[in-house]
Amino acid sequence: MITIEKLKKRFPAGEGYVDIFSGLDFHLPEGWFISVIWPSGSGKSTLLNLLSGIDRSYEGDILLDGDSLSDLSDTQMTQFRGKNISYIFQNFKLIENLTVRENIDLIVDLNKLERNFSTEEILQIVGIESKIDTYVYNLSGGESQRVAIARAFVWKTKLLLADEPTGALDASNKQIVMDLIVKLHKKIKNTIVLITHDDEVAKLSEKVYKVANTSLVEVPKNKL
Ligand code: ADP
Ligand code: MG
Repeated sequence: MITIEKLKKRFPAGEGYVDIFSGLDFHLPEGWFISVIWPSGSGKSTLLNLLSGIDRSYEGDILLDGDSLSDLSDTQMTQFRGKNISYIFQNFKLIENLTVRENIDLIVDLNKLERNFSTEEILQIVGIESKIDTYVYNLSGGESQRVAIARAFVWKTKLLLADEPTGALDASNKQIVMDLIVKLHKKIKNTIVLITHDDEVAKLSEKVYKVANTSLVEVPKNKL
């Protein structure tokens, strides 16, 4: 699914450079749900921007399903992203002045995506079907993240990138959100990369990685 070959990424810093990756090799098979534990300020956003083709300046290769991202023009990359990658963010990134239904349908209709669920079905699964016609600005944080989960799983995404999905939530909503991601992954078997600084959240995925020496190293769950 995702193959990263000899990836080098650095940013200028003062007189020199900061290396985020200096030769990363990594393979993620289709259908896996992994977490990467990452202290903030160390390259979390950089990795997600590289995987989603927003940051296109690197050495080495990133392939999604055998397609090298570097072979795509910027326009093709934007289309590829819209058709293949879904997101869940810490701060939800919903459109506040649209309803729950509109937030979910907008992206599916815009990119003519194939669905896993009807909008009613997915809202039932995440437990907020009664809010379908509610404007997002009237939702709590926990409810908003459930809409974002519905939006991410409603269509046949190849890759789901989750960036600190529980970062803005209290303990009980954190549990609800993680239970839903685990449950939906079991149903859909999509490929998920979840980035978090929270060991308890990471443990709920199938495999856990940490960043060490600009590389990704698997951590056994009993070592967390
Ligand atoms: P995180 O998301 O984990 O907080 P980032 O990926 O945003 O971290 O950044 C990782 C490191 O790279 C930081 O030291 C940051 O200062 C640096 N960095 C990120 N983007 C840029 C940029 N466009 N130019 C220079 N340095 C950057
Ligand atoms: Mg960041």
